[in-house]
Amino acid sequence: MELTYSKFLAVWQIIALGLCGASIIGGILILIVHRLRFSSISDYKQKYDYLASNDSKMIFWSIIAFAVALTLFINTVYDSTVVLSYVWFFVRLFIAVCIGTLIIYISYLMMQFAYPTTLEKKMKRWRYKPRVNKKTGNVMKLLSEDEEDVHLDEGMQAEENVFSVDYDVWVDETTGDVQIEKYPGHLIAYQCNSCGFKTMKLQKEEIVVAPTENTDGEMIKNYQCNYCSAKRSKTVKVAKLSQTESHYELPAHLHFKDEEKVNLVTLEILISTGKTKIFEFTSTKQASEFLNQFKIEE
Ligand SMILES: [Zn+2]
Repeated sequence: MELTYSKFLAVWQIIALGLCGASIIGGILILIVHRLRFSSISDYKQKYDYLASNDSKMIFWSIIAFAVALTLFINTVYDSTVVLSYVWFFVRLFIAVCIGTLIIYISYLMMQFAYPTTLEKKMKRWRYKPRVNKKTGNVMKLLSEDEEDVHLDEGMQAEENVFSVDYDVWVDETTGDVQIEKYPGHLIAYQCNSCGFKTMKLQKEEIVVAPTENTDGEMIKNYQCNYCSAKRSKTVKVAKLSQTESHYELPAHLHFKDEEKVNLVTLEILISTGKTKIFEFTSTKQASEFLNQFKIEE
């Protein structure tokens, strides 16, 4: 019995250390691949898109790999104590799994709440880095919200007006070449089935069955396209009532007297769930229009 247990421990030691090494290599490989894929992209807009969809994911996967490596490593330490009784084996296993889970959980929270601000800064660098006209080599100029409208068609302007899509228009001032880039806006609007623009907005919610404290209710959501006026409706469930419903109100007007002197308006919205959202606008008029359309669920 004693002998088989110590033999088992010796094998366990080898396997755990081997897997630990493999996990560390895996974690490093994820970071290297991420780095290489990012630097292989030459277009700034594509770099931005790559960061938006992959950066958090890749970093989180590498953290998981390192946490697994640490968990496996802890399962190989204090071998002289563990060999005394198999109870110690399970104690060590339990502590290791707890530490590993805790690291993954804390990293998950950090990636969810703290990292987005850092990532946004990283992404902004690529979004506003002056574009170079591929044909002429000239440095292009980014147009302001007011100047860009002439280059956008009506559908694109409608998308910008409901804050679902943000278009950046870059112009080569010597040749007049225009480059239009599409970015996600601050608010959610759905793609319209009829015209294809992202201008479908919630217009009205009708409660058909009122929710009570014990049962769910039912509601019809009516959507309308801000561009082609197509309509759509959807039936959804309404959650049971809770006694601690809190209400929020938004300022109806947020204009300053010297509007033209304002360069940037930052809105920081703190939601009761602990989430913080930061939005930036070039004028208080824009910020005000945004607040009028802002819905907490979005
Ligand atoms: Zn439409």
